[in-house]
Amino acid sequence: MFNKFIAAILPYFPKKFIWIFSKSYISGETIEDAMRVSKDLNGSGMKVTLDVLGEFIKTLDEAEQNKNDYLNLIDVTFKSGVDGNFSVKPTSFGMLIDEEICYKHIRDIVMKAATYNGFIRIDMEDSPCTDKEIKLFRRLKTEFPGNVGLVVQAYLKRTLNDIKGMADLNSEKNPLSFRLCKGIYIESEAISFKKYEEINQHFLEDLEFMLKNKIHVGIATHDKPLIDGAYKLLEKYKVPKNLYEFQMLYGVAPRLRESVVNDGHTMRVYVPFGEKWFGYSTRRLKENPKMASHIIKAIFYKG
Ligand SMILES: Cc1cc2nc3c(=O)[nH]c(=O)nc-3n(C[C@H](O)[C@H](O)[C@H](O)COP(=O)(O)OP(=O)(O)OC[C@H]3O[C@@H](n4cnc5c(N)ncnc54)[C@H](O)[C@@H]3O)c2cc1C
Repeated sequence: MFNKFIAAILPYFPKKFIWIFSKSYISGETIEDAMRVSKDLNGSGMKVTLDVLGEFIKTLDEAEQNKNDYLNLIDVTFKSGVDGNFSVKPTSFGMLIDEEICYKHIRDIVMKAATYNGFIRIDMEDSPCTDKEIKLFRRLKTEFPGNVGLVVQAYLKRTLNDIKGMADLNSEKNPLSFRLCKGIYIESEAISFKKYEEINQHFLEDLEFMLKNKIHVGIATHDKPLIDGAYKLLEKYKVPKNLYEFQMLYGVAPRLRESVVNDGHTMRVYVPFGEKWFGYSTRRLKENPKMASHIIKAIFYKG
């Protein structure tokens, strides 16, 4: 109760205060911070996916700025020798203002990444965005078959059908590439599973469909039972290493992450950075109010 209360009032706290908590989950405000953290993770045998924070923009000027930030990030990442790809949130490029402009911005980003043989993952946002993001992915996958992937959310009742509906884009040369996660947004009961067991059951069903059909999957979870379930499916279908990886968020479950790496699997860490870290942090806190207690602890520890 206490944690939930704290999480609800946090957005009204001073930013400096929230940063005490956020710094474990965000690599920093600048590209240099992101490169430093990425190199550290690479040094520990993990890949990264980089995300410039900045969702739900209000103007198309912000969309243009976000595109330019990504174009610069791609150059800096490859020139720094970091082993990583990039995650983009279409609302940061104006998807809810002008879909065509958003498509052009993300197309420019995918095209830039393709010059380095790089890869762009389209994050999945809340349900008003689902159809639009699938459509966007379809267009880009057709044009850049090896350079773009999409996220799907196990908590949405529609997801297995969505995956099946994109199966025509799968090929041996350029497999479909999905990141499978539970889903982070608050959705209605009419369209989403709410119970932990139900979400996990559908996560494993979606995963089994992908593995059976030789679709590349980023298994994005910190939930031990799901990781164990994934191990069983990987064994059952004798999935080759080039068709899957595990993914976790920066700062979350580092021990579990290490155990997955030690078990010999590829691990990719989602590394967010940027000046707009505030919205990201408060969302993470609402998702996991238990973390609010860390802020309280941090205050006391720092006097
Ligand atoms: C790489 C990656 C990319 C993602 N991309 C998207 C996306 O595009 N769209 C989307 O909707 N969602 C995305 N998510 C979020 C995802 O949907 C879940 O909300 C989140 O991963 C928590 O689910 P879980 O599978 O870890 O299971 P849970 O059952 O929620 O958590 C399992 C355990 O992990 C720990 N844990 C989980 N999350 C946190 C946290 N934030 N802080 C501290 N501990 C935590 C807790 O100890 C918990 O008991 C992504 C997640 C990952 C790992």
